[in-house]
Amino acid sequence: QWIFLNDQLVKKEEAVVSVYDHGFLYGDGVFEGIRVYSGNIYKLEEHLKRLYESAQSIMLNIPYTKEEIQQIIIDTVRKNELESAYIRVVVSRGPGYLGLDPTNCSDPRVVVIAEDLALFPKEVYERGLTLASVATRRNRPDVLSPQVKSLNYLNNILVKLEANQAGAHEALMLNDQGYVTEGSADNIFIIKNGAIFTPPVYLGALEGITRNAIIDIAKDLGYEMKEAPFTRHDVYVADEVFLTGTAVEVIAVVEVDQRIISDGQPGKITNHLLSEFRKRVTLDGVQ
Ligand code: PLP
Repeated sequence: QWIFLNDQLVKKEEAVVSVYDHGFLYGDGVFEGIRVYSGNIYKLEEHLKRLYESAQSIMLNIPYTKEEIQQIIIDTVRKNELESAYIRVVVSRGPGYLGLDPTNCSDPRVVVIAEDLALFPKEVYERGLTLASVATRRNRPDVLSPQVKSLNYLNNILVKLEANQAGAHEALMLNDQGYVTEGSADNIFIIKNGAIFTPPVYLGALEGITRNAIIDIAKDLGYEMKEAPFTRHDVYVADEVFLTGTAVEVIAVVEVDQRIISDGQPGKITNHLLSEFRKRVTLDGVQ
């Protein structure tokens, strides 16, 4: 396996970063997760836009142009001879002194990893996920914007831990007012009486690229699609619930806080959206 690091493709064993890298010391950096479907890099432009916006927000200079990063990503996928893959792009502040001050770090580091990824086994897609709501809240948008995909993912890690400790696959994360925001690394949708709802991003959800794709697909298929706030109660009494994300794609949720959702099976509309999503993934991206 080949990994892009410090301007070149190196073998996996040689892909190591300094212990003085502020990405390691402080979680100072940004990242993206991207999928390749049949050699097609899905929504690459949208992912690069978000990567550069995350970097801009934390005053991190990515040492390549978008076109250069695009080529680096394509080269990494090709070098690893991957037709289908998960790509991780990481930009860290780079090595510096032990102090927090990012101006110590003059050499931001870019890493691109491309490999196979299966987040959940096939049975979980067929049977559906269980969720548990957690005490840890989504960080407030006025503190650190949830739109920044920073290397500091402790909040998301803690919610995942809490959910797993409660015996659930995934977390249901609320904001500080108790409105549903998202999962640990995925957006949430609920369906009631044929209408599809997802929280508006201002409540504290990342504007997921899969989320936006599903909103478009839902509208194209003629469903009523609304971005509106909802609470745990609305999730408990929904007809269908599902999560979206680059890693999970579209995955049904069949149980939330031990309430069985509807008949406890992945829902019809969820399956319809998933099959349409799968049809489109090879069409919408960069070859
Ligand atoms: N929410 C969070 C916190 C995430 O980290 C991710 C993953 O990127 C998502 C949602 C889903 O976003 P996307 O569909 O762009 O992968």
